[in-house]
Amino acid sequence: MTLREILIAPDPRLKVKSEPVERVDDALRSLMDDMLETMHEAPGIGLAAVQIGVAKQVIVMDLAKEGEAPEPRYFVNPEIIWESEDFHHYEEGCLSLPEYYEEVERPAEVKVRFLDYEGEIRELHCTEMLAVCIQHEMDHLEGILFVDHLTRLKRQMILRKLSKAKKQQAAELA
Ligand SMILES: [Zn+2]
Repeated sequence: MTLREILIAPDPRLKVKSEPVERVDDALRSLMDDMLETMHEAPGIGLAAVQIGVAKQVIVMDLAKEGEAPEPRYFVNPEIIWESEDFHHYEEGCLSLPEYYEEVERPAEVKVRFLDYEGEIRELHCTEMLAVCIQHEMDHLEGILFVDHLTRLKRQMILRKLSKAKKQQAAELA
């Protein structure tokens, strides 16, 4: 397993639409292993492949709390096949937008169809945190970040600050 670099917004590679995966094979499982390790290390609870610069429809997730046994979940080519009519607000964060948290409104529950780690077709009814997380990660596959759900003003403020921090970091390294 290898730790990968997580892309930080603003980065054009985060806006790329991810392609469906043709086959769940050892190469893809090795990518998922890297993603899980990178996400745990960060630490985070969800990561889309595009966040490490691989524009494939692959998501890893682990919602286990600190001190609990890890509960890795893998979603390949996920699609939402049902969503609830009621919405929930939840404060979201993102490994590609470090240190920013904002409330986002999304359907409270969704049903997702996807391929798992072994390439088997599965369906999952997602509620609460799982529903928030899967919708957030599936947005990444479309090149959408959670700040894209906010007002333009808020989004620009956050992206400007991140961009400034990046330049500062680059200057310090130079
Ligand atoms: Zn994210």
